[in-house]
Amino acid sequence: MTDYTIARRRMVEDQVIARGVRDQRVIDAMLRVPRHLFVPDALAAQAYSDFPLPIGERQTISQPYMVGVMSEALQLKDGDKVLEIGTGSGYQAAVLGLLARQVFSLERIPALARQARRTLDKCGFARINVRVTDGTFGWEEEAPFDGIVVTAGAPSIPPPYRAQLAIGGRLVIPVGDRLSQILVRVTRLSERDFREERLFGCRFVPLVGDHGWREE
Ligand code: SAH
Repeated sequence: MTDYTIARRRMVEDQVIARGVRDQRVIDAMLRVPRHLFVPDALAAQAYSDFPLPIGERQTISQPYMVGVMSEALQLKDGDKVLEIGTGSGYQAAVLGLLARQVFSLERIPALARQARRTLDKCGFARINVRVTDGTFGWEEEAPFDGIVVTAGAPSIPPPYRAQLAIGGRLVIPVGDRLSQILVRVTRLSERDFREERLFGCRFVPLVGDHGWREE
């Protein structure tokens, strides 16, 4: 086993399982995705540490635990179609790629989307769709989605996300102010009814866009 494989196993055991993530499919996915390839080369040695890391453009790859809980909260099944807002490094998208049948991911910063595309291709995730756009509008042509996950903090829930959820579908999104948020899960119960659960506190970079924050 390589040092990275050992570090990855330790990360999943100490940071993800030990803190309560139970979904075996999520655990297996995180054991498989080579997180060190999704961070800048100079930070590869820290890729399995218990914190977010800078990926350029003032953005970050989320803390491993956060990827674990968000993936679990989505309750994905093999055949599901899922949308991610905030491709960033592409790491969360890769984890989703092992949990769902189709993954669509939106990123507003072209340089990050390009780098994520390269990494995803290198790691065998060529079928994950990445598009550069303001993701606060969702991806209407591909809706409805069984899962939508937003990896940036929103001031409120952008209306397109509810509209693009399949019935039975789950939206997981950090909502709050610019510095701290609550992770919220919205489940679409019927055409008109949605259940909203507040999961726990978190801290994400801002979701910048028409239905999000204004650029600073
Ligand atoms: N899921 C990423 C985490 C990236 S951090 C990973 O696994 O690495 C959040 C990302 O959301 C940043 O790359 C940021 O540029 C992006 N973002 C912020 N607002 C956005 C918007 N309106 N549409 C698409 N992406 C957005």
